[in-house]
Amino acid sequence: MNIDCIFKAERSSHECEQLVENIHLADSLSGNSNIVTEYERRLAAYFKTKHAIAVSSGTAALHASLAETINPGDEVLVPAICVPMTVAAVLQAGGVPVFYDCQIDSFKPSIPSVDARRSSKTKVMITVSMWGYPAIDTQIKTYASENNLITIEDTAQGLGTRNRGRYEGTIGDIGCFSTHEFKMISTGEGGFILTDDDRHAENIRSFSHIGFLNTVGSFGYRSGLNYKLSSLQASLGISQLDILNKKMAERRRKIALWKTSILQEMDISFFNENTDFSHNGYSFGCLINEKSHINASGVASELHKRGINTDTHRYKNGIVATYPFVRQFYTMPRYVGRVERDFPNAAHLLSRLLVLPSHDAIKDTDIKMATAVMSIIISGE
Ligand SMILES: *Cc1c(COP(=O)(O)O)cnc(C)c1O
Repeated sequence: MNIDCIFKAERSSHECEQLVENIHLADSLSGNSNIVTEYERRLAAYFKTKHAIAVSSGTAALHASLAETINPGDEVLVPAICVPMTVAAVLQAGGVPVFYDCQIDSFKPSIPSVDARRSSKTKVMITVSMWGYPAIDTQIKTYASENNLITIEDTAQGLGTRNRGRYEGTIGDIGCFSTHEFKMISTGEGGFILTDDDRHAENIRSFSHIGFLNTVGSFGYRSGLNYKLSSLQASLGISQLDILNKKMAERRRKIALWKTSILQEMDISFFNENTDFSHNGYSFGCLINEKSHINASGVASELHKRGINTDTHRYKNGIVATYPFVRQFYTMPRYVGRVERDFPNAAHLLSRLLVLPSHDAIKDTDIKMATAVMSIIISGE
């Protein structure tokens, strides 16, 4: 069997035709083209935000947002469960990552954990909507504002997820998205930033455009990098945005199929099942029973042996604080040094969370076959 969370995004002939058409309409191929402006206009309209800034990757979106909101040496709160890129962007901006625990069976921050870890040097809290599941709500945003914390949402995987009519990535102060091939909108490589704040928008745009200042109409007044998205990628982005709702519906259909197949075969519950939100369908999270003879990593590794590669296996279901490249920040006296004590909710969640793919390349028959394999692994026969 070959089922993989890694895949090649599909390109329809309609999309390719649109790409060629858009390129003909472009007044330049660079990131300053009218096509990029049009893509940004459509993103802002879709998400109902004041500003959208297209950039060359999700990591660039995070770095540009952090360069705007922190000074070197400032502390940045990052969740115990996220991807290495989130923390790498903090380091790149000169920030000190401070790791917080999540709420029980949720990617949202545990307020008591954040309260215990933050200090007078903490400027930003990053939330990460892993696998499209919510990581922020208005209560968390209010808590952050009251404590002078700027919220940056890493919505690389949460593009399209909605909470009471508000899109993930538009609840905090700044939303950072990726349009890498694996994400909900694929431009190969790419990303964008959403914000309603005029000052953040102007400074982030300047930073990602080599420090160009719109007000002066020139370079050289401030520092920046070239993080612009090219007009070829923006052309793809426009056609991808057109089919986003269709794509999300199709992924949600696959998740519904995972659920019915699993319910027929075994005793497994689903992540965030009784929570009120509309999932983008990015991936499907299930929770292995605590009393089972095998934990989530165990199931993922058994699945991998049988040709089914899941994100659970790929990311090793680890707490980011334990990654070697940030291990130097995971030290006493802030932490005890044992993940079960420092991040009890995250550690418990990771022991049970199995993430299954629902992307374009997954077929209905794959889901049924994989469920049968899972059933054998979990029953222990
Ligand atoms: C993909 C991803 C990123 C990085 O995006 P790139 O476009 O690959 O730089 C950051 N955070 C999360 C949660 C991601 O899934």
